[in-house]
Amino acid sequence: MIKASKRAMGIEYAIRDVVLPARELEKQGVKIIKLNIGDPVKFDFQPPEHMKKAYCEAIMEGHNYYGDSEGDKDLRAAIVEREKKKNGVDITPEDVQVTAAVTEALQFIFGALIDGGEEILIPGPSYPPYVALVHFYGGVPVAYRTIEEEGWQPDIDDMRKKISDKTRAIAVINPNNPTGALYEKKTLQEIIDLAGEYDIPIISDEIYDLMTYEGKHVSPASLTKDVPVIIMNGLSKVYFATGWRLGYMCFVDPENKLAEVREAIGKLARIRLCPNTPAQKAAIAGLTGPMDYLDEYMAKLKERRDYIYKRLNEIPGISTQKPEGAFYIFPKIEDGPWKNDKEFVLDVLHNAHVLFVHGSGFGEGGEMHFRSIFLAPVPILEEAMDNLEKFMKERLG
Ligand code: PLP
Repeated sequence: MIKASKRAMGIEYAIRDVVLPARELEKQGVKIIKLNIGDPVKFDFQPPEHMKKAYCEAIMEGHNYYGDSEGDKDLRAAIVEREKKKNGVDITPEDVQVTAAVTEALQFIFGALIDGGEEILIPGPSYPPYVALVHFYGGVPVAYRTIEEEGWQPDIDDMRKKISDKTRAIAVINPNNPTGALYEKKTLQEIIDLAGEYDIPIISDEIYDLMTYEGKHVSPASLTKDVPVIIMNGLSKVYFATGWRLGYMCFVDPENKLAEVREAIGKLARIRLCPNTPAQKAAIAGLTGPMDYLDEYMAKLKERRDYIYKRLNEIPGISTQKPEGAFYIFPKIEDGPWKNDKEFVLDVLHNAHVLFVHGSGFGEGGEMHFRSIFLAPVPILEEAMDNLEKFMKERLG
């Protein structure tokens, strides 16, 4: 047998552990309600028409070549305008790197920061690729606590305790996956102050920035004076184009402390040639075009959020915080016979025929929780909640 690298073989994606048994059940003809995938386009959401049209036109007009490795000039200008308007940041197109979505931005950043043994602070619980990619590059992901009772806000004291001389970045995921938390301005200011005290840059994942319910998203980049912040964003969520794989990062770095890291990222960008050329033309249409589709979509999501939040809290043995952003809810398993959250999720799958993701799949802080999406229309959520309620009543006797 030809050996694969330990680095690649060591990659864990716990979310898949529950997908395989679900597929087995489906093969046997069992209908499963899938509330596990964070892809709006698998439900009743689509990228807006003007973006789809621009993508098709770009192909037909011949924009099918290798572009600049840093990204299309006009797109970078559009990103600057969007970020100035949204976050009031002082950046130029030279501060923007277009990527194959946020996932590639993470690869570039960790590739540029980690030699081996460096630590990256990440929220606990956290979107799994953060853990997997930091490990892949030879780094150590260190989770800082987020406080469930406070709507999953980061615990700044814990963050401080987790900083060491090996810490190379603090990752902030806001709105958060899997908790749906929207961080308060005060908390973000405290993170900036802490990062400034120890001279650590912030990586700010803002992929859900305009997907908020009652509150509004605040970027740490809008609060910084000297602390470098790398904003990451893209088309996947707010523009409902998950499959186009397009995103970007912006360096908000008033004192140019990231000069070498930026050079390293530029090198990584050049060896992968360029981002998808026609998708970048569609991105220009998205970033400069009307956003009224988002009001309609957010109204739909709010109705679904309100519904699932109410139903989950009425089910015995389950309690949940209210998500303030994104389209995830992260309830706690308060009571029941299960040894751990994975056992719970598999029991629900086999007996209530609803697929959630076990909380421990999101790392530290996720134990005895599960993640559900609420992208599905209310009648589907209703069926899922009815099944779950019946199941919990049976299990709790
Ligand atoms: N960051 C977070 C917090 C996410 O939840 C996701 C997808 O679910 C991503 C990044 C992936 O984004 P992209 O599609 O831009 O790679």
